[in-house]
Amino acid sequence: MSPNNELGAVVPTAEELNYTIEFRSYNDDAWYTVAVFIEGSTLRVKYLNFSDENDDVFKSTDFKTLKEKNEFKGRFRQLSKQLQDNECRKLVKGVKVCASHSFTETDFKFYDAVVDAVQVKEHSTEQEEELCLCAFVLFWLHGPIAGNLTAAKIENICIVQPKMDDNPSVVSFLKIASESKDYTSSYSSPMSNGVSGRDMVAYCIEGSNNAHRLGFFERLKKAITCHDRRTEDTDLGGIKTPCMILVGNLDRELCSSTVTEFLHEHTSVSPNVFIFPSLSSEIYTRGAILLDSEKDFQKLCVFLSNPNCMITSSAGRPWVIIEKLVGLKKIKASIRTLLPTSKIIVQKNRNSGTNNDLKVVRKGTKEFEIASNLRDLFLAFSSHQERLYKRLALEEAKIYAARSFLNLPNRI
Ligand SMILES: [Zn+2]
Repeated sequence: MSPNNELGAVVPTAEELNYTIEFRSYNDDAWYTVAVFIEGSTLRVKYLNFSDENDDVFKSTDFKTLKEKNEFKGRFRQLSKQLQDNECRKLVKGVKVCASHSFTETDFKFYDAVVDAVQVKEHSTEQEEELCLCAFVLFWLHGPIAGNLTAAKIENICIVQPKMDDNPSVVSFLKIASESKDYTSSYSSPMSNGVSGRDMVAYCIEGSNNAHRLGFFERLKKAITCHDRRTEDTDLGGIKTPCMILVGNLDRELCSSTVTEFLHEHTSVSPNVFIFPSLSSEIYTRGAILLDSEKDFQKLCVFLSNPNCMITSSAGRPWVIIEKLVGLKKIKASIRTLLPTSKIIVQKNRNSGTNNDLKVVRKGTKEFEIASNLRDLFLAFSSHQERLYKRLALEEAKIYAARSFLNLPNRI
């Protein structure tokens, strides 16, 4: 028989617990297989293969706004499905997956990603079992490498399942929460309440100033939420982290002030932008976008890496993110001494839509298709160039080695 806890609720035994759903933890934003049950007016979330002290207990009074409550509900879903090797064709561009990201050989966590590209390879057979050898390029939506592309194998990928019927315990808990508070009258800002990263918070991109761009970010707001929450505490505390995004394939005529204005228009972030000089033989140039906080950095990363949009020049040349760096104070300082800053204070009521040099092109349009082809071409070129650099370094090393051999003292 199941024991009663201090609240008088029946606590399920280990055998009775059904680990049938997954939950996106507030701690690290990763997905875990969990079992849930109600204890009085609280909801206990038990993590599969973790001890009881790792349980999360949520109070029905924890939600400050209706959005927080709905966001909490969105953190539960049906277990993502591990794919068999012969099912790899289900993983096509655009499919949402839950994939493992390894921190060390033994430490890995699951985050959401979208399949960005597939390199199909002929399958092999081992002991009569089909082995998928394809490579899948994933665009990460959550976790420490959100906004980045990495390659993965099928064994690291699960398919996110369609919406399930809501879990009865979660439904009952949210009902208790609704009864304990009138959400129609509450609309508090998480920042003004001084919440910690552990608290449940609503999406942080809200407020009258940003209302015009909510639509653009709507599809990716889940990806931003946790980054915003995590970095908000730091930023509010006055701690600044310099970050840099290096962008390639820029039009040579592009001005840094145009980039700053464009980014501010779409993200409300006003970064320092530097456009690097290019060689006369080069058909494109590079630029550096510098930011003072990780919060702004994450905002820009999500904007720049959105798989549904690309940024191009008015002639159609797409931006390509070359590198993202966090905390490089020295690099930032050295760049600042090289060139004058282009940071501008964007005046209120400035006419928007006057920017002719850059634009956002949306997925599904001809422009996006062309930009995507141009980006792939640039990436292939960059990768070839990278191999040439390595070859150059190798050849240089050989010359250095030969020289040091010649400089050796003569032996008798
Ligand atoms: Zn395959």
